[in-house]
Amino acid sequence: MILKCLNCREKIVENIKYKKLIRVSSDSKFFKPDGKIACCIKCGLIQKVINKKYLSEIKKIYKNYEMYKITKGDDQRLSGGLETRARRITKIIKKNLNLKKNGYLIDIGCGTGGFLKEFGNEFKAWQLYGYDINKKNHKHLKKIKNFIKLYTQKPNNTFNLISIIHTFEHVTDHFSFFNFIKSISNKNSKIFIQIPNFKNSTYDILIADHVTHFDKRTILSTLKKFLNIEYYSEEIDKEISIVGTIKNNFENKKKIISSYYIKSKSKLNERIQYFFNLKKLLSNTKNKIYVYGTTIASSWITGNFRSKIKGYIEDDLRKINKTFYGKKIVNLKHLNEKKDHIFLPFNTEVIKKILLKNKKAKYKFLYLNDKKYN
Ligand SMILES: [Zn+2]
Repeated sequence: MILKCLNCREKIVENIKYKKLIRVSSDSKFFKPDGKIACCIKCGLIQKVINKKYLSEIKKIYKNYEMYKITKGDDQRLSGGLETRARRITKIIKKNLNLKKNGYLIDIGCGTGGFLKEFGNEFKAWQLYGYDINKKNHKHLKKIKNFIKLYTQKPNNTFNLISIIHTFEHVTDHFSFFNFIKSISNKNSKIFIQIPNFKNSTYDILIADHVTHFDKRTILSTLKKFLNIEYYSEEIDKEISIVGTIKNNFENKKKIISSYYIKSKSKLNERIQYFFNLKKLLSNTKNKIYVYGTTIASSWITGNFRSKIKGYIEDDLRKINKTFYGKKIVNLKHLNEKKDHIFLPFNTEVIKKILLKNKKAKYKFLYLNDKKYN
């Protein structure tokens, strides 16, 4: 069977080392290894191999999905800060989109409504709608002011703003996804998309239900087929944000001119090697460790080294004294500088910030720098 690229339909080539790595689901639970990842020989898009086994795995993940369990459905805070992702996105939209006072917003893959709530606080006269694969989170959504309806089927109307936040990377068929978006847009509808940035979202390839792993080049070559792109930004750490309007006629693969395979493939190889190096580092560590954070990366470390973990560290006060995989979540200042070893499962930028912030303290930090990409 020849495997084909989700973006340009060219051949994709698998990296066979990946299947040895434990994976995580995007709601932060570790997940069995044996996944398949590949790189397109033309456009360079890094993507999971979509076959029957993969589709049944992601179906299972979505069936058991629990977002932000520790904080009872509240939106995730961005690393190092106390501002939520939803708040930052609202700011970007306010600054760059020139929205009217009134309008209709639909959030695709709305989850518990973190973004709808934050957007509604800023744009008080807008009517808010959500779309998701099931009605599980309706109880959270209906508490949001100006929330009108949760759709699980295609709506029959159009919206002024369509937000697609951490959803597009789950999509296994781009054409039918954008046909759906087209059916709920008009020519003036603004489409806001946010996805993880492969460049500095180090742990992203380990997320089983993330189908695609985009960087600037591959997301633009993917979206240009469907959207007139008006705005591109990497201003939120580890994320790419894009705004556009829907194209009248979708374009085919012909738009992709130059090859990005060699560079993209080597980035993927390096990233996979990073996790083997990380496993080696932690295997060689004799001490028990505290892991900084309680998200995807910490779940992956737990999946690999559960018996080595003493507890978890959080800046987010809502999580202190709660548990993660049965171990207590504490604040950094509660640790013993002389005794406790702390593992930082982050990209190099975030590691630098944490080291700088704690440079006077003598914490025993353990980490592995990721390679820097352009
Ligand atoms: Zn391709």
